[in-house]
Amino acid sequence: MNEEKLSVKNRTVSASRKKEGFHGSPEIKSSLTCSVSGKCGGCSRLDVPYKKQLKEKQKLAAGLLKPYCVLEDILPMEEPYFYRNKVHAAFGRDRRGNVIAGTYEKSSHRIVPVEKCMIEDEEAQAIILTIRDLCKDFKIKIYDEDTGYGLLRHVLVRSGKNSGQYMVVLVLSSLILPGKNHFLKALLKEHPRITTVVVNVNDRRTSMILGDREQVIFGKGYIEDTLCGKIFRISPRSFYQVNPVQTQKLYDKALEYADFHGNECIVDAYCGIGTIGIVAADHVKEVIGVELNKDAVRDARVNARRNDVCNISFYENDAGRFLTQMAEQKAKVDAVILDPPRAGSDEAFLGSVAELAPEKIVYISCNPETLARDLKYLTGKGYYARKACAVDMFPQTAEHVETCVLLMKASEA
Ligand code: SAH
Repeated sequence: MNEEKLSVKNRTVSASRKKEGFHGSPEIKSSLTCSVSGKCGGCSRLDVPYKKQLKEKQKLAAGLLKPYCVLEDILPMEEPYFYRNKVHAAFGRDRRGNVIAGTYEKSSHRIVPVEKCMIEDEEAQAIILTIRDLCKDFKIKIYDEDTGYGLLRHVLVRSGKNSGQYMVVLVLSSLILPGKNHFLKALLKEHPRITTVVVNVNDRRTSMILGDREQVIFGKGYIEDTLCGKIFRISPRSFYQVNPVQTQKLYDKALEYADFHGNECIVDAYCGIGTIGIVAADHVKEVIGVELNKDAVRDARVNARRNDVCNISFYENDAGRFLTQMAEQKAKVDAVILDPPRAGSDEAFLGSVAELAPEKIVYISCNPETLARDLKYLTGKGYYARKACAVDMFPQTAEHVETCVLLMKASEA
C-alpha cells in the first residue's frame, strides 16, 4: 500500500503513521482517502489539500462579503479530521440480507454502508458498528422503508469532546425494544463511555430522522460537555455545534469583536442551548436569550443554573416576533449577537434590531449567501460592517463556511 495513502475501507494505517499518531500535519493528511466519499458526499473535499480548501473557503466568503468589508484570514483547524461530535447512521439491509449502517446516497434513499468516516468522531462510529453487529445477535428487526415493517431505523450518537461522555439515540418505529436489558449490557460492555441511551420513536413515513416521543432507557437522557470553560447539557434534539474545537475559536472571535465592558444589556438570538450567551454573561450586565426549540430552551435554563450564571434569561419564541415585541416596548439593548440557521434571519428580526439600534451587532453565520443578503439589509439601515472573519467549522466539506461579522452603528464610526 502506498505510504501516503490510508485505506479507510481496510482500516489500515502504516506503521510509521501509527507511530506519528493519526493526526499528522494537515498537509500530509490531505492524501487520506475514503472508499465511499463519492457516493456519500459528506467529505466532498477530502482529496483537496487542506490549505487549498481553506483558500477556497476564504475566497468564497470574501467574494460574497466584498461589498461590505474585508475578511481577516480564515481560522483553520489544526487537526481537521474526526471532528464531528454528532454521528448519524441509517440502518437497512443489503441485497444479501446483511444489516448495514451508513448514510443515504446523495439525493436518494439508498444506504451507503460506512465502515469509517474521516470527519466523524471515531468512538461514535465504533458504537454504530457495534450496534449493527448486535442487531444480528439480538435479532432486532431492521425497519424497511418500503413496507414500513421492522423496528430499528436510525442510530444517532452524540459525544462531549471534553467530557468524554457519549449519548446513543436508537430511533425505533415503536417504543418496545425486545431484549432491551441484555442489549444494553452488551453495548455498554463494549463502550463504557456511553453515559446515556435514549429510545426515540419515529413511526411516520418521513425523511425526518427523529420523532417526537422519547424514553430514556439508560442514564440521564442527556450528556454534558465543556466549552469555553462552561458546562453544557445537551439533549437528543437540541442544537449543539458539531465541531467543538472550532466552536471555541468562533466564540472567542465573537467575544473579541463584541469587546464588552461589563455594563451592557445584550440579546443572544437563535441561542440554542444558551452557549454564546452563557459564555458572554461574565462580560456584561444582562443577557436575554431567545430560541424557538423548546428542548433547547429547557437545556439553556438548566445550563445557566449549572454554571451559576444569574444575569441571563431565556425565552422560547420566534426570534423575529420576540425582537418586534422588544422594539415595541422600546427596550434598551447595547448589543445583539445573532446566530441564525442556514436560511439566515428575516426582516421582522433585522428591522426590529434596526429599531432597537444597538451600538454593535455580532452576526455569526453558517451560510455566507444569506449573510450577504442580511448585511445588505442592515447596511441599508444605518449599520456598517467593521470586521469579519471566517472559521473553518467543517473541514473536508464544501458546504459550509462559518463567518463572524461585527457591525457598528454608522454614527459610532
Ligand atoms: N447559537 C447557538 C445555536 C445556533 S443554531 C449555538 O451556537 O449553539 C441556530 C438555532 O436557531 C437553533 O437552535 C434553532 O433551533 C434556532 N432557530 C431556528 N429558527 C428560529 C427562529 N425563527 N427563532 C428563534 N430560534 C430559531
